[in-house]
Amino acid sequence: MRKDYKVLIGGEWVEAAGGRRIEVINPANGEKVGSAPECGAEEVDKAVSAAVEAFPAWASKTMGERSKILLKISQGIMAHQEELAKLETAEQGSPIRKTMNFDVPLCAEQFEYFAGVARALTGETLPVGPWCLSCTVREPLGVVGLITPWNFPALMVVWKLGAALVTGNTCIVKPPSVAPLTTLKLGEIVMEAGVPAGVVNILTGPGESVGEALVKHPKVAKIGFTGDTATGKRIMRLASDTVKQVGLELGGKNAFIVMADADVDSAVEGAVFGAFFNTGQVCAAASRFYIHESLYDAFAEKFVAASKKLRCGDTMDMGTVIGPLAYEAHRDKVEGYIRGAKEAGATLLLGGERPDTPETRNGFFVLPTIFGGCTNDMTFMREEIFGPVVGLARFSTPEEAVALANDSNYGLSASIWTKDVRAGLAMAGQIKAGTVWINEHLIIFCETPWGGCKQSGWGKDLSTMVLDEYTTTKHIYVDLTGVPEKPWYAILK
Ligand code: NDP
Repeated sequence: MRKDYKVLIGGEWVEAAGGRRIEVINPANGEKVGSAPECGAEEVDKAVSAAVEAFPAWASKTMGERSKILLKISQGIMAHQEELAKLETAEQGSPIRKTMNFDVPLCAEQFEYFAGVARALTGETLPVGPWCLSCTVREPLGVVGLITPWNFPALMVVWKLGAALVTGNTCIVKPPSVAPLTTLKLGEIVMEAGVPAGVVNILTGPGESVGEALVKHPKVAKIGFTGDTATGKRIMRLASDTVKQVGLELGGKNAFIVMADADVDSAVEGAVFGAFFNTGQVCAAASRFYIHESLYDAFAEKFVAASKKLRCGDTMDMGTVIGPLAYEAHRDKVEGYIRGAKEAGATLLLGGERPDTPETRNGFFVLPTIFGGCTNDMTFMREEIFGPVVGLARFSTPEEAVALANDSNYGLSASIWTKDVRAGLAMAGQIKAGTVWINEHLIIFCETPWGGCKQSGWGKDLSTMVLDEYTTTKHIYVDLTGVPEKPWYAILK
């Protein structure tokens, strides 16, 4: 059923000035799913004013009071599990099997996690001397702008919103134009849970207007962003005028290293998951495979055989595991990388084309695609594809594997597959990435920090570290001597 939402400003659901709307298309079949208002700078000003006004009361609540509201949001999410899952599947194309069993329950769990962990947030007392009390307190930043991508429309909002809210900030969320509806539904759940008016505002509309107006706004203290590295660079530049904090979770080009002693069957299972989960539209997707020459052929054969079995089709069918790319232009971009890989001389081992079935014909599907015989100088081995396309290359020594993995502008994640965990740990220490998995790829928990280095960005989502991202540390000094003259005043006497 079609969903036509309004945007949330100051606790009211309203249309954008001028009444313009964004149409949302189901990438699995091209059908119209619904629409959202196309906001502009006017709505950004209104939302910022509402968030500024709501801030003092929200920041003065106890951590316990805010935590309890987060727990209600968590319960509200599970109460609407099916509706949220169907909406996300319809607007983003991720199969219902994943949105029902993974995205929505994880969103609820994230709110639970933030509700609990924030209550352990502490300051410090600093042992300067017996004549004073010197301590730090943690305070919210103020109004924060949260700009989110389309690959996990609900989860990427929750990662940032949960942490920002519980620590006492007021928020303006700018979801992706390709898939804004799940975020607006989450807004309804947030309001039902008792979040006061103005504490959470949601504005839909183009990144170039709504997103940039938020980034430039002098009353927005921080931008939490997940998305493309090019957009992240622009946000950094624009944010500098107001010396705004930015948290950037950007692209990745993640290495998957299979050592000579690896358990090939485990590595193949991990490879299929790492490469094709969410149709490869994951910043941490396994993308560059470096396989020891002694087991390259065995690995390639088994990886191709296992990937061939992945079922691509009707995204509302619980048996489907591979959905379409999220929108037509993105499908075209992914196909461009496939053409580029062929032109560069890589050997096509699997896929490389659209499926041709009645369920997929009208959607933006591309089959899981594996290239062999790749080298790091091929463009598709260097740029983020964000689709179900991977390349396999050979190496002969651990040093070479590390050098290949580090030969990238990105530094988000990598995995090493080996039975020798000691050797794996030594390699992990040499790889420049925010996360290195050993005998696993793409597993992320609430408790584990997430964020990269190099052009994958900075700052952390998740874990207790995200609490630092949405608070500032204030130092407070109290004189306990009660005497007017201090030894250090002598310097002016
Ligand atoms: P973008 O970075 O353009 O979009 C992410 C978010 O930023 C969206 O909400 C978008 O709004 C907004 N945005 C866009 N431009 C600006 C701007 N100038 N100022 C402020 N906000 C802005 O990514 P795309 O959706 O265009 O995807 C492009 C590529 O980025 C993908 O093919 C993929 O390679 C990569 N990507 C990486 C992600 C990751 O997690 N690492 C996530 C998503 C994409 P709007 O939707 O209205 O444009």
